[in-house]
Amino acid sequence: QRTILKVENLKTYFEIDKRFISRQKKYVYAVDDVSLDVKEGETLGIVGESGCGKSTLLHSIMRTVPVTSGRIEFDGKDVLSLNKKELRQVRKDKQIIFQDPFSSLDPRMTIGEIIEEPLIVHGVTDVAERRRRVLETFEYVELLEDFYYRYPHEFSGGQRQRVSIARSLVLKPKLILCDEPVSALDVSIQSQILNLLNDLQKQLDLTYIFVSHALNVIRHVSDRVCVMYLGKVLETADVEELFERPKHPYTAALLSSIPIPDPTVNRVHASIKGELPSPSNPPSGCRFHTRCPYVKDKCINEEPVLEEKSSSHIVACHFSDEIL
Ligand code: SF4
Ligand code: MG
Repeated sequence: QRTILKVENLKTYFEIDKRFISRQKKYVYAVDDVSLDVKEGETLGIVGESGCGKSTLLHSIMRTVPVTSGRIEFDGKDVLSLNKKELRQVRKDKQIIFQDPFSSLDPRMTIGEIIEEPLIVHGVTDVAERRRRVLETFEYVELLEDFYYRYPHEFSGGQRQRVSIARSLVLKPKLILCDEPVSALDVSIQSQILNLLNDLQKQLDLTYIFVSHALNVIRHVSDRVCVMYLGKVLETADVEELFERPKHPYTAALLSSIPIPDPTVNRVHASIKGELPSPSNPPSGCRFHTRCPYVKDKCINEEPVLEEKSSSHIVACHFSDEIL
């Protein structure tokens, strides 16, 4: 399988407004030295508590937030060094779907106009061609043709998320970044949308990065999973391996709180003691040390690096082999 996206040592820091803080600059270390690969046709799930940096990671890949340092290679191109024109082409191949289908659609535009807009932006000038492509995406996401002239407020959350998905598909992207795309929807609708994304992936050879705080959703959609905590990737493995044999204490703690019988309970940190530390003042050494039941001196002083435990399983913990 070809690697379509390669992220290397990515850092995205946000400066905190200096007026409130004396002298020293302060930063939120939203994404802090993240490296990962995405292979063509797969779904890479990214899971973590809110504030772990998963949305910022997606926005960094989209280049909708300024990246501090690192490298993003997409489809063989070094995305951070492209000029405007090259960037436009790359933008076309990478699309993002957001959590909230209520605020992400312009209420003044018809469904047809919303889905057509990216075609106009990317210079498809033939009106008939645009209409044909819009209606083609209607078919992909199973929307009725008479939605074309209607407005977002006329539809339910699930239907609106279908519209968002149609909009993301209309330029025939290679990679779709999904930022909690079902979290705002009723549970009964969630599985419909997840199944739709799954069908579209097969039909259109799509690659997904799928961000969620909900473990049951991540398990359902992912081929591989990255676990993030305070801007860092702590563990990556194939989905079954990760869920059956986690090798990082944080992942193990997340899984022990998995609410299997009740998919409406999405909280992932029920059994992890202590508060999530602030991403502007992360703990020294291992970032999980303030909440880890196995913490030792070394964990406080020395940051563990990601190590390969088996061919597709990498973990950042000094004592993983002894603990898990
Ligand atoms: Fe826990 Fe130490 Fe491993 Fe961090 S490095 S997860 S604190 S045992
Ligand atoms: Mg988020």
